[in-house]
Amino acid sequence: MEKQFLLANMTWQEVEERIKECDIALIPLGSTEQHGPALPVSTDHYIATQFAHRSAEMVWDKHKVVVTPTIAFGFSPHHMEFKGTITLSELTLSSMIADVCYSLSQHGFRKIIIVNGHGGNGTAIANALHDMQGNIDAKVYSVDWWNLATDKIAEIVTPPVYHACDMETSVAWYLGQRVLEDKRVDEPGKTIVPGFVIPDMLAPPPHVSTSYSMKEITDSGVVGYSTKATKEKGKIIADAVLERLTAFIEEIAKM
Ligand SMILES: [Zn+2]
Repeated sequence: MEKQFLLANMTWQEVEERIKECDIALIPLGSTEQHGPALPVSTDHYIATQFAHRSAEMVWDKHKVVVTPTIAFGFSPHHMEFKGTITLSELTLSSMIADVCYSLSQHGFRKIIIVNGHGGNGTAIANALHDMQGNIDAKVYSVDWWNLATDKIAEIVTPPVYHACDMETSVAWYLGQRVLEDKRVDEPGKTIVPGFVIPDMLAPPPHVSTSYSMKEITDSGVVGYSTKATKEKGKIIADAVLERLTAFIEEIAKM
């Protein structure tokens, strides 16, 4: 039987039947923003889409989840000095996330997973989740794919792990994204305040936050070592992400 998990390819009657069988929906969410000279602007939403589709395929025999069309725009004002970036305002993004979730819950989807591919979407997602709490007849979850595999990532990638870096380039490459191999560059990122780390999820403390434009910390748009990227590393990370994402789907399916 054909694995029809794409909501966009289903008729309304097929969706009606599906909800009786499985009430789980996945929403891939990313961004359209610069990813340095070697990766296209689609990278974040490409990766999120791949993880959502592949996990739906993997759980198909037990759970016939659906995957909505990808939300391909995110919150990326800090990348706007690089061409090709398209950003939503945070309010638009959180409203869009909530509107998609409300629509799904109105039809009977009771478990919704946002599969996020862009760190900058974090605040908009959190705001949407808080706004929906108590108002939506569904439980909405959100996963940042890299947070499913930080242990594997720490073992094999060259830090900093931030943007169009070793980690992201490896994963995108393995998942089939277009990579301009000989355009890959290494740029560790400039420090904004000496002694305090630039964004890097694996760096030891002290960590501080501030708002900044990507132009302040990188000339190429890369923060990390994209020449270290390999498809093999991407497979190790992607396999861990998929194993844990499908385990999570299995777990909430029981609830
Ligand atoms: Zn990215």
